[in-house]
Amino acid sequence: MQDSAQENSVKSESLSLRDQKHLWHPLTQHKLYPEMLAIVKAKGAVLYGENGNEYVDGISSWYTCMYGHCNATITSKVAAQMEVLDQVVFSGFTHRPAVELSEALMSILPENQQKLFFSDNGSTATEIGIKMALQYHHNLGNDRNVMLAFEEGFHGDTFGAMSVSGLSVYNGAFEDHFIKVVRIPVPTFSNLKEIREKLKELISEYKIAGFIYEPLVQGAAAMKMHDAHGLNEILKICKENEILTIADEVMTGFGKTGKYFASDYLETKPDIICMSKALTAGLLPMAVTSCSQRVYDAFYADEISKGLFHGHTYTANPLSCTAALAGIELLKSDEMQENIRRISKSHANFHKRIKTHPKVTNARQLGVIYAFDLNVKMERYGNLRNQLFSHFMENGVFLRPLGSTIYILAPYITSNKELQKIYQSIESALEKF
Ligand SMILES: *Cc1c(COP(=O)(O)O)cnc(C)c1O
Repeated sequence: MQDSAQENSVKSESLSLRDQKHLWHPLTQHKLYPEMLAIVKAKGAVLYGENGNEYVDGISSWYTCMYGHCNATITSKVAAQMEVLDQVVFSGFTHRPAVELSEALMSILPENQQKLFFSDNGSTATEIGIKMALQYHHNLGNDRNVMLAFEEGFHGDTFGAMSVSGLSVYNGAFEDHFIKVVRIPVPTFSNLKEIREKLKELISEYKIAGFIYEPLVQGAAAMKMHDAHGLNEILKICKENEILTIADEVMTGFGKTGKYFASDYLETKPDIICMSKALTAGLLPMAVTSCSQRVYDAFYADEISKGLFHGHTYTANPLSCTAALAGIELLKSDEMQENIRRISKSHANFHKRIKTHPKVTNARQLGVIYAFDLNVKMERYGNLRNQLFSHFMENGVFLRPLGSTIYILAPYITSNKELQKIYQSIESALEKF
């Protein structure tokens, strides 16, 4: 009796309060930020809070649910799959959702991609890309053990992924254990000559196995965009020097840049591509690392040890594959492509509205990704990011500023009215801060 009374009194507490007892959240210093907002429902572009408020999901819950939350087309297919085959070992077995997904991915990936390796998240996708590059050279008998990366890249939180990430302010405790990495700046219109020379020096000095990069847009570096021509030149130099190129499209993949993949803007195609986030339409976690036939062939041998001995328990989970397959079908539809054009155009119009505002600098756009930096005095930086975040939430919009950068990456199905709500919350922030 007493037990159940106690249970009932616990249950009447808010989720936010009950959360604080046992949960440890990602990227959070709990002493500074003890309280999490509970979300009880999500539909389309809207999140519904336990507090009764609604929030337009202006960053697609970390760039995942691009076709909208709880999209009925996707959830019904996954529910049906759930009745047929839930999970099976993917070593020695295969299944329809994985086979059909491989065919669907081949129809949208750059032509040189031929083989797909499954894992669970963006970090494992890049980790596998790095391992493919290192073992490729190992298998061919080449002595190469260094990775090349951009200075401010972000590739995830596991050890290999952390090592190649340049944004390492939070990684101090682990740096002694990193793999070897050398770095170059991202190409701008003015520094290409300098990068070419630096690259030449690095190539002669280090035994570089692979180059990992976020093509055209660096998400965690605050939606920094760089020059396609410059990146293409870097990729060409890598190819000429047998450095495997690994495009980390975990953020940029599946239509966000206005093309299926950011690599579609580049003439030189990567040897390896990492995908996650929108791959499964925000429904379930999964990742894919794809590669060209040439990479695969270096692992195809009579010796067992030349294979890629990497595998996760939930590899190619049938439900995740089904969500991904349904997502790709939606992405390829005329309706979704029209949505992507509509939002790109809408952002361009919003840009015209705010570009001359004195607090707007470095405004940039590629596809449905729009970002600018808030031009305020350094001494105001202290708590600015959190004040901005609270301002947007008070206005019913979920945006997650990165430092002083405000960016929008809303689902493709966001309505014009919802877009205006996002824009208005930004315009009122411009007046307030
Ligand atoms: C998010 C992200 C990752 C890491 O993905 P997780 O699923 O969070 O491990 C890697 N690379 C890029 C470019 C990302 O945006």
